[in-house]
Amino acid sequence: MTKTNWTKRTLAAQAMGKIDAGTMGIVPPIHVTTTFIRDDDNQYRTGNIYGRPDNATIREAESIIAMLESAPEALVFGSGMASAVACFLALAPGDHVIAPNVMYWALRNWLMTEGRHWGLSIDFVDMSDAKAVQAAVTAKTKLIWAETPANPLWSITDIAAVAAIARKAGARLAVDSTCATPILSQPLALGADIVMHAATKYLNGHSDVLAGALACRTPDAYWERIRMVRKNVGAILGPFEAFLLIRGMRTLDLRVRAASANAMQLAEAFARHPQVTEVLYPGLPDSPGHAVAARQMNGGFGGMLSIRVQGGEAGAIRTAKEVQLWKRATSLGGVESLIEHRASIEGAGSPCPPDLLRLSAGIESAEDLFDDLDQALKRAHN
Ligand SMILES: *Cc1c(COP(=O)(O)O)cnc(C)c1O
Repeated sequence: MTKTNWTKRTLAAQAMGKIDAGTMGIVPPIHVTTTFIRDDDNQYRTGNIYGRPDNATIREAESIIAMLESAPEALVFGSGMASAVACFLALAPGDHVIAPNVMYWALRNWLMTEGRHWGLSIDFVDMSDAKAVQAAVTAKTKLIWAETPANPLWSITDIAAVAAIARKAGARLAVDSTCATPILSQPLALGADIVMHAATKYLNGHSDVLAGALACRTPDAYWERIRMVRKNVGAILGPFEAFLLIRGMRTLDLRVRAASANAMQLAEAFARHPQVTEVLYPGLPDSPGHAVAARQMNGGFGGMLSIRVQGGEAGAIRTAKEVQLWKRATSLGGVESLIEHRASIEGAGSPCPPDLLRLSAGIESAEDLFDDLDQALKRAHN
């Protein structure tokens, strides 16, 4: 591919135009080797030494993610958690971190337990309130972590505003952009230093790969420490999973736009539904994060929404029991729609309301999705 201004959608559809030079196959092979032959003068001229850091299929996946984020470099990991945790392990004990009080639950748990055990001091704040973020900054603040839209209430962080706070404090901003995807949001262009994806979700998109990814604005010393953490911990993705991830990303643009349009249609329909007390979705004009989301997201507000239903926790669990088309499961970002009683999986101390159902809109027909959940709501409240 010689033209330099192909769109991201085009480049991703063709996996950057890579072919197999040996056979001229339009799909490159999966590189499974764990080791590489030394040159006869004892050098390693290809740069490949050993599979824990070095794998060509992994690098192909990384080049697509870097392209999608307009980043100089990306790194893929064995899971979203592995990629997020690498950002914290690359800090030093004693460093101060500011994180959101509403965020992906497993990572919040990690920060409160292992993160503190590792010696980080961590303050959890309302990340949708820039003043609260500013007030939490100390002389030791090294990293601000944001997630937008954030699980499971889909609150919005003003990335540019928090990036300015981080820059002034001499700290970095990392954004978990899993639910926004590179199609709808470009955190690095808004001033973030690191963007993180649970590639398990939209990037792969078919609920059959666990993977994580980071992309950086500048490949600086912090980025090199992250790379070292991945290498030394062995948190790299397997080559077969990297191949599936590459295949998934070929259709990322289409899938994200379809899921996002479905979510918008469902949010509007359920906002008028008699058994639904509240719809949480940044695409709705009366949602608290709407203005910021409209400014920093492009082409949609994502495929994730939550509904709060009549009858409290029991009403929500009964509704999830009655669905036939929606799959009753955790996770998100796949082609199939998922419904989850979120408080059940987050457990004690969760900020998630007990009457909340988290919905991951897939790419099925929006009418089918509405009809199924509508009949479930009616049966559950009969
Ligand atoms: C799923 C998820 C993660 C963690 O990813 P895994 O691949 O499950 O480790 C992190 N952040 C968000 C927003 C997620 O949805």
